[in-house]
Amino acid sequence: MAAAFAGAGRQLAPRLIVLGRQGAGKGTQCARLAEQLDVPHLSSGDLFRAEIAAGTKLGGTIGRYVAAGELVPDDIVLDVVAARLGDNARRAAGYLLDGFPRTQAQAQALFEVLGADAAELAIEIDVPADAVLPRLAARRMCIECGMVTNLHTDSSTGRCPACRGFLERRADDHPDAIARRLAVYDEQAPPLLEWLRDQGLLVSVDGRGEPDEVHERLVQAVVSRIPALRVLCRAVAD
Ligand code: AMP
Repeated sequence: MAAAFAGAGRQLAPRLIVLGRQGAGKGTQCARLAEQLDVPHLSSGDLFRAEIAAGTKLGGTIGRYVAAGELVPDDIVLDVVAARLGDNARRAAGYLLDGFPRTQAQAQALFEVLGADAAELAIEIDVPADAVLPRLAARRMCIECGMVTNLHTDSSTGRCPACRGFLERRADDHPDAIARRLAVYDEQAPPLLEWLRDQGLLVSVDGRGEPDEVHERLVQAVVSRIPALRVLCRAVAD
């Protein structure tokens, strides 16, 4: 695992982890927060979907785990994420990690190799299991730009609000895979969250309510832990 992140060094821009149950609104909130903090949004799920869409042998292997709602094995995850995190210069731009780490072993691998600089804050978007089921059933993704939306807001057109591309259900948003992904989350998240809490990194925010309200809570969590970022978050934080 360690070799995957060779060349680790000091980074200066914000480095955040965002976690949450499937359907908690992580993707939407991460995209917005990353834009506000001016850091790359790095979603392991998006990296895997790109690999699957590229039709590579690796994508074929990954696709079998994703379609079944299972976690992709750690060695593959770490290789793919490390390839995207790149070298020191690229990491210096900071990052917002979405969907990675997803297990305690992945978190430990990340910090073992990058050291304490791997992340300065981990935010859990907390939404109870019974609240995410309707969200997952209504979730749709644009086949052109990958934007995630839902039938409640875009039922009138069936088209992406950003690029007008067609919306479709994600391949792993069928009932069996949803049930399996939620069960895997309930197995893997408690030890991961406890480990991050022990490192003094974890903050939980309530993920229920309107997207704007949740965004505001995320921003408050960021500036309360990293006051230097207030300048980037001023419109929301003040
Ligand atoms: P997401 O878009 O985050 O819901 O991820 C979609 C799927 O990709 C998950 O259900 C897993 O199969 C896989 N995946 C994403 N991130 C990870 C990870 N860190 N570890 C293992 N599997 C992952």
